Amino acid sequence: MARKCAHCESRKGMVRFEDETFTIEFAGVTATVKGLSGWRCEACGEAEFDAASARRYAAAGDALVVREREKLSKEIRRIRRKLGLSQVAAARLTGGGHNAFSRYERGEAAPLPAVVNLFRLLDKHPELLADLVA
Ligand SMILES: [Zn+2]
Repeated sequence: MARKCAHCESRKGMVRFEDETFTIEFAGVTATVKGLSGWRCEACGEAEFDAASARRYAAAGDALVVREREKLSKEIRRIRRKLGLSQVAAARLTGGGHNAFSRYERGEAAPLPAVVNLFRLLDKHPELLADLVA
């Protein structure tokens, strides 16, 4: 009996693949992981990695998320300081909890895209801050 696909449950067949390169995408950045092996579904194309490959793929994805969160933390902190806002004032402005910016800037939490977008606009047009806090 053919191996069943865990993704689509088709029994059309799982085909072995070895030493393939996969690309992981997160928040517009990519990482490639080489030398992955496993099985691919003939019906839906979904890959099921071998245990070691699955661990390497997951670790690469986690590293990508951590790296991007660190970049975002630094960017948020830089813009907040440029605007002359305390963490509490920045949280008041964006509606987060009083310690939201402390958590963003330590990488413990990711700010909502609305917060990131607002800060990027204020980075380009800091004079608009006066309209927001008035
Ligand atoms: Zn499938």
